[in-house]
Amino acid sequence: MPSKERYEIVVIGAGPLGLATAYHLAEQDPRRSVLVVDALAGPGEGSMGASNSMVRDVFSSPDNRRLAGASIRFYEHVMGSHESMRDPVPLLDRYGYLWLLSEDQRAEYARLLDDRSARIEARFVALEELGDLPGLERSPTRWFEGALGTAPPAIAGALFGRSCGAVAPEMLAHFYHQEASRLGVEFSFSTCVTGLSFEGTEEILLHEDTRRPLAFQEHIPGRLRISRVHLADGRFVRADRVVVAAGAWSAGLLEPLGVATACSPRPQSTYSVAGPGVDALLDWVPNLDPIDRDQGRPRLPFVILPTGATIKPVFRQRRLWLGCLDTVSRPIGTLEDPGRDGRLDFNMGRLADRGSYATDLLPAFTPYLPGFESAVVRLDRCWGGYYNFSPDGLPILATEAYGVAFLGGDSGSGIMKADSLGRLAAAWCDGATEARLFGGERYPLDRLSLLRRKVEPETMIL
Ligand SMILES: Cc1cc2nc3c(=O)[nH]c(=O)nc-3n(C[C@H](O)[C@H](O)[C@H](O)COP(=O)(O)OP(=O)(O)OC[C@H]3O[C@@H](n4cnc5c(N)ncnc54)[C@H](O)[C@@H]3O)c2cc1C
Repeated sequence: MPSKERYEIVVIGAGPLGLATAYHLAEQDPRRSVLVVDALAGPGEGSMGASNSMVRDVFSSPDNRRLAGASIRFYEHVMGSHESMRDPVPLLDRYGYLWLLSEDQRAEYARLLDDRSARIEARFVALEELGDLPGLERSPTRWFEGALGTAPPAIAGALFGRSCGAVAPEMLAHFYHQEASRLGVEFSFSTCVTGLSFEGTEEILLHEDTRRPLAFQEHIPGRLRISRVHLADGRFVRADRVVVAAGAWSAGLLEPLGVATACSPRPQSTYSVAGPGVDALLDWVPNLDPIDRDQGRPRLPFVILPTGATIKPVFRQRRLWLGCLDTVSRPIGTLEDPGRDGRLDFNMGRLADRGSYATDLLPAFTPYLPGFESAVVRLDRCWGGYYNFSPDGLPILATEAYGVAFLGGDSGSGIMKADSLGRLAAAWCDGATEARLFGGERYPLDRLSLLRRKVEPETMIL
């Protein structure tokens, strides 16, 4: 439970976005009082803990490239300056991303790579050059047994993202949590926020029934502040500024106050598979040049099929983690409602079911990897978390004059941009209009706002 009744800044959520915000707040000024509250028992246990935790700087949107590129460079810097982040397990393992592309996709990505200003570190690879990916069917003839209609597109080539790979989520969460604590940030875990409320610099007028402010007061500068953070045990803490980084559950805290997030949380599942077919893929040595090798040899990269289905190699566990972007099989929203229940009953196992492995997931793989249908690849475990989709696939930093900011809209790629986003939210707390990303590049906060947004929509969402 929080030790004080008042803080300069309260951050709600100890996921990657809240953790990075707290760390950069303390880095800028360790004297100020910062509280991070999270309903779960430790850092990074929300959607971060359910994620693939991959990192890439290959995006169609220049802003996503800037945010992810600078964050990845920061993670590289952390790894370089902390022995414990390299050995025995590295924080970053950049074994690459390999997009297997249809002809149409190849043409689309060629336009992106031709744009020299984009400076994307990715190159096209001919299939002959790549080597034989075990079990790959390049020209499938049907989607699944008995399917009518068009055949899946043939694979015409590949795109290799060299500086992409995996980040160890628990190490990243631990780093931010430990460093922020060392710099004086207070963390309160197992502490559920049930709501936020307004209070004024002077007596404010509230509707009697709802305890909401009368509308006219919004237009009197400086009068209203969202400064009370209500906890499940009935207590509240006060803050000058509140950063809501509660992932998929953010809207439940902000919308009752009339603050929009513009985001749609959608469950996404991961399926861990094992077996001889998996071993064959894990032992494959492609003809590629990733940044990180294993005993000098390139390994199976993170693979994306033309359907958008993804394969993450988990070398130590001899497993593959399979996923496929899902925006149709389940309704928008979260199963949990911490504001209502006074607790966050997040259960990764409940967000995926073994039955949908065969019905929803495999059909996106088997045209290209028919062996996945047989016993050589068997389902081991499955789990899920949320993508909090913004309308354009870019993150959102929506700030309100009355002291609250929403940091979210990860759209499935929040871990890889977390450091940059944390810097942006910390800059807002300082009253700044721009932040410096790792490496020094300036980034105006308005670019990710809802009202003055200046971004191109992202098309490469995985
Ligand atoms: C299957 C899957 C695969 C993914 N793969 C990747 C990937 O490869 N790379 C990548 O970058 N991203 C990936 N993601 C997305 C990534 O998990 C999110 O972008 C990231 O976790 C968002 O960070 P966050 O801090 O906004 O939210 P979260 O990680 O969900 O953290 C939010 C925190 O807020 C807390 N909270 C919520 N409500 C309350 C409340 N009322 N009171 C107190 N605390 C509260 C939660 O307990 C939680 O700890 C994936 C996600 C899924 C589900």
